[in-house]
Amino acid sequence: MSTMPAPFTADDYRARMTRAAEAAADAGLAGVLVAPGPDLVYLTGYRPAATERLTLLVLAAGHDPVLVVPTLEAPDAEEAPGASALTLRDWTDGRDPYAVTAPLLDGDGRFGVSDNAWAMHLLGLQKELPGTSYVALTEALPMLRAVKDERELLRLEAAGAAADEVYGEILQVRFAGRRETDIASDLAALLMRFGHSQVDFTVVGSGPNGANPHHEAGDRTIAEGDMVVLDFGGLKHGYGSDTSRTVHVGEPSVAEQRVHDVVREAQQAGFGAVRPGASCQDVDRAARAVITEFGYGKNFIHRTGHGIGVTTHEPPYMIEGEEQPLVPGMCFSVEPGIYLPGRFGVRIEDIVTVTEDGGRRFNNTPREMAVVE
Ligand code: ZN
Ligand code: ZN
Ligand code: ZN
Repeated sequence: MSTMPAPFTADDYRARMTRAAEAAADAGLAGVLVAPGPDLVYLTGYRPAATERLTLLVLAAGHDPVLVVPTLEAPDAEEAPGASALTLRDWTDGRDPYAVTAPLLDGDGRFGVSDNAWAMHLLGLQKELPGTSYVALTEALPMLRAVKDERELLRLEAAGAAADEVYGEILQVRFAGRRETDIASDLAALLMRFGHSQVDFTVVGSGPNGANPHHEAGDRTIAEGDMVVLDFGGLKHGYGSDTSRTVHVGEPSVAEQRVHDVVREAQQAGFGAVRPGASCQDVDRAARAVITEFGYGKNFIHRTGHGIGVTTHEPPYMIEGEEQPLVPGMCFSVEPGIYLPGRFGVRIEDIVTVTEDGGRRFNNTPREMAVVE
């Protein structure tokens, strides 16, 4: 039902690795160390499981990229899309992988390390090279994956369109009398049906459960009169979707409609603040100002948004204090909410990309409150 976009090539991965090494040098780092996880996927297309056996990509400006891998996993690494853009250095069980890695590193250097590198591997390296020091990659190079190229944008757009199809379908199912977990299963099945390879979350927060933004889905039976927060997403063709809408079972009360209207206006204001040169915190401030104006400031208990790409949550963050300017190609959520403990919650979320002319949404389903059965 959807065609697979042309895969990224070894040249694409080579360019990403070169850019990462140069950004690290500009930041005063001796290099970048990348463990299995989203950074490794982004830089090489290789997706090994993280294990106690060391796999580590070493990037340093002026040096060819080297991927340290366990010998038994080398055949898999050779199949990675970016493999021809790097040198494999394998190590066999019984050898010390940190001793194998050490000669690749400047022994007095400071290195950016992917956030999800296991502590045991970093401590192993540090023991081997006591003169080295380390900084989290999202702290050192938070914008490494933030600006998407044309083909990444197409993937994110396709993921958003698939999530929109899911929302259209879920409005047709019965809510009243079913449990939150039943709706969550429906959402997961629909995400897969519309081309996702991975479901990351299916939030169904009915009635008072909607007031907890981190409520996933539980055994509560949904009833007529409930507001229901829906927030779902995952990966399609390796890129993320993440959208929220809040629906009502039967006709909403005036009070419920009013709260929803405030969130909708706040979401529109946040979207309206998206343009090149504005800062991340400007987006948060624009959305928050509307909610505060209507007296719900203390009920908007999270940041306005987060970046999205090869993961569903990553920098940049739309949060007070984040002065990072917006750049065309950045993609992130705009998702204000109001949470009324003991009563209900409302959240509306779209993925938005920055263009020269302002924001462009990857989620385009109606933001008016839908009535479900
Ligand atoms: Zn109601
Ligand atoms: Zn979400
Ligand atoms: Zn989100």
